[in-house]
Order: sequence, then C-alpha cells, then structure tokens
Amino acid sequence: MIDIKNLTIKKAGEMLKNGEITSVDLVSACLLNIEEKNKELNIFLEVFSDVLDQAKKADEMIKSGRGTALTGIPIATKDNILINGRKVSAGSKMLENYTATYDAFVIEKLKKAGAVLIGRTNMDEFAMGSSTENSAYGPVKNPIDPTRVPGGSSGGSAGAVSVGMALGALGSDTGGSIRQPASFCGLVGMKPSYDVVSRSGVMAMASSLDQIGPFAKNSEDAKIIFDCIVGKDEMDSTSVPLRGLASQLEARPLSGKIIGVPREWLADGIDKEVLQNFEISLEKLKKVGYEIKDISLPYSKYALAVYYILMPAEVSTNLSRLDGVRYGLRKEGENVFDTYSKSRSVGFGSETRRRIILGTYVLSHGYYDAYYNKAWKVRRAIAKEYEDIFKTVDFVATPTTPTTAFKFGEKSDPLQMYLCDIFTVPANIAGVPAISIPSGVSEEGLPTAIQFTGPLFSDESLFAIEQDLRENI
Ligand code: GLN
Repeated sequence: MIDIKNLTIKKAGEMLKNGEITSVDLVSACLLNIEEKNKELNIFLEVFSDVLDQAKKADEMIKSGRGTALTGIPIATKDNILINGRKVSAGSKMLENYTATYDAFVIEKLKKAGAVLIGRTNMDEFAMGSSTENSAYGPVKNPIDPTRVPGGSSGGSAGAVSVGMALGALGSDTGGSIRQPASFCGLVGMKPSYDVVSRSGVMAMASSLDQIGPFAKNSEDAKIIFDCIVGKDEMDSTSVPLRGLASQLEARPLSGKIIGVPREWLADGIDKEVLQNFEISLEKLKKVGYEIKDISLPYSKYALAVYYILMPAEVSTNLSRLDGVRYGLRKEGENVFDTYSKSRSVGFGSETRRRIILGTYVLSHGYYDAYYNKAWKVRRAIAKEYEDIFKTVDFVATPTTPTTAFKFGEKSDPLQMYLCDIFTVPANIAGVPAISIPSGVSEEGLPTAIQFTGPLFSDESLFAIEQDLRENI
C-alpha cells in the first residue's frame, strides 16, 4: 500500500505520470487511512462518495496526456469553501444542511487541474479559533499526539495532510489559521498576499483579512497548490494578478537574502524550545548565505489589539445574514425578533456569539470612532511600518507560534487563546504574505516552526527559503 504520510505531491505526480501508480491507488490509500483513523481524530466532516470516480477520471486525463501537476492528487478542502452541489457548514450548526450552489474560484481551479477533492475538513466555527475546539461537530485531534489540539481554525486540513488522509489541503487564514495549525502539525502552511487568491465562494469571516492558502509537506508541494489557485478573478472585485505585480519587487536594491528579526517580539511568553529551534534555523540559513539583522517593528505590537477590533466588526457584519430568515437554521419564535434571537442562539456556538457581540459593540454609535476608526488608523501605521522595513530586509522572521501544540481545554480563557496568534496576525493586518516552516521538534516530539513574512507580492520567494532551510537540516 502507498505510504501517503511520507509521499510528496511532486513524487506522486512523477509516479502517476510514468504509470507506476494510478490515482485510484492514491485515493484508495487515503481512504484506508481515513477509515482507520477518522473516527478518533475527527478530521473529515464528510468524505465525498464519488472520490473513486474522480480518481478514475483523473487517470484517464493522465493517460490521454492532459495531466497537470495536480491531476489525480487527493486534496482536502476546509469546510468553508464552496463546492457546487455539496454540503458546506463552516463547522457550524447554523449551516448544518446547507448545500453550495456554485464552485469557489479555488475549487474551479482545482477541478480544472484534475485534483481529486477528497472531502471537507473540520474547522473552528466560521474559522474562529486556534485549536479547532470551537467546531460544532467536535474537536479535531492532533495526529502527532491525540491528547493535543492540531491548532486552528484549519485544524482538519492540517491533520489530514499530517496523517496521510490527503497529499495536500486548502485552508483559510484570517489571523493565522493556516500557519498556526501547520506549525502544530509539522507542515508547511502559507498565507498569500491579500487579494492574490480569489475569495469568491469562500465563506467570509473578516473580508479585509481572509485569504485561502495551501498546506503541504514542503514548499515545493505548497507551491504546486498555490500556483493552481492563484490568479485574478472577475467574481472577486478586490482580486489582483500576482504575476503582473510581483515584477515591482525586482526594482528593490536588496540581495534577496536579508532576514530581519524583531527582537522586541521575542522578549517573553515563548517556549524555550520554540525559541531554541528558531535560533538554530537562523544559524542554518546564515551558513548558506543569508544575512540576519535585528530590526524593530514598534507599531506591530498593537496588531493583535487591532485585529480583535476589526475582525469582530467584520464578523458581526458578515454573519448578520445568518438570521434564521434568509439562510440556515431557523427556530420559530413569537415574532420576527424572537425568531432571530432563537435561531442565532441555537445556531451559533459561544465563541461566535462572543465575537458578534464584540463586533456589534465596536461598530455601535458612540464607539465607532473610539474603536473601529482608531483601529483602522493603527492598521495603516502597521502596514506602512512593514512597507518601510522591506526597504531594508527581504524577510521578517519570527517563530510561528509562541508554544507547541497544547492540550485540550488548556486555554479556556479566550484571551489566552487569542495570544496564540501574536506572531501570525501582523501579516494579515499588513496584507503581506507569510509562510510557516517546520524548524524542528521539541523534546516531547512536538513540531516547532519558524515564520517568514515578505513584502507584498513576494509570495514566490517565501517558498524558496523553505527549500534552503530543509536542504540544510
Ligand atoms: N485564531 C484566529 C482567530 O481566532 C485566526 C483565525 C483565522 O485565521 N481564521 O481569529
């Protein structure tokens, strides 16, 4: 049987091309792993019933010479990405029986490439969380240590790749939801520059921050997925063409190998081993010609505070359509307000309700200027700070998360949970791309990770740095 857990997309693609294996073989191996472990780990909310038919079609595509780098490759998708005719619930009771009526742009692209869509993965409700404990369908367990969380909110997508239920996956990242679970599950996870991947057909959490991106075992695989889903889309009015814009970067007078480290971020609250492995990774990069520079990003220490004002504001607006009248679950009340209130209190979990309330508060008359407008001003200052720093360095490096994967229930105070995103949120606030790369393992065998952030539209260069690091481990 094919060992999916240790197979890359690239290798599988070569084997498919030269006829050593078929897509049906690959998919069957994934299905076996799902059958064995999904009950315990709760990674997939649904495995599509037609996966083997999809695989057969992909095999025909390869035979007839029309194959692409993703043809026949089993890919898992997060449960907030629409696939025409299939259920999609965003991990919420509110949308338990909702069926998508069209394909998300990224799905259209995957289908065209001949990828096999294997199923939809479990997630924190509406992508709010850092542990996947907020799913209405129960938490996902980390395959590396099932007593621990896989990270979130894309915990299911990370788990699927880590345990060999798929060769790659899509997640969404609003404040870290790809990079943080990638870090906890020993994978590469990447958040593209804002707007280079269309958000059409992706359920909105906070529209000015959301991006779709890949999970994979290494950067070559992540880039294969990224190359497939990137591109301008008429259906997303904010979308921009990466390829045309990346050329702007060539004018920068830098070597492409200067890494800035904001030392003030690393002062406290970080696990010793996370920090150790971070420094070791930097040393390795130094040996292959990278220059490491200390930098300062003083405004960015407010990024998390800004995030927890702007994100709930957008959440409260985006989720207002889920009112028991237009969409989703409905609990009949005595009048329309009673119906709203009953539907929303039954349909939404407590974290979702907390954020809707916070968001409504910061947008309310009298507080709008004090919170929402002020947060936008600070957001602009942070974006400018990144723009300026990238005139002197090519990358900003930090650990991806302050800790390794934690135990279930360990972060019951919401603020403790929010602090997991302290290093990942700034990239979303500034709109710049960032990648999480494995940096080693702790004594307990838990993965640690290093994050690289680059200037706007430098997405491609982030994949290259992982290769330099991996080849020197
Ligand atoms: N963990 C963060 C939050 O709960 C990020 C979520 C995300 O990126 N979707 O908001």
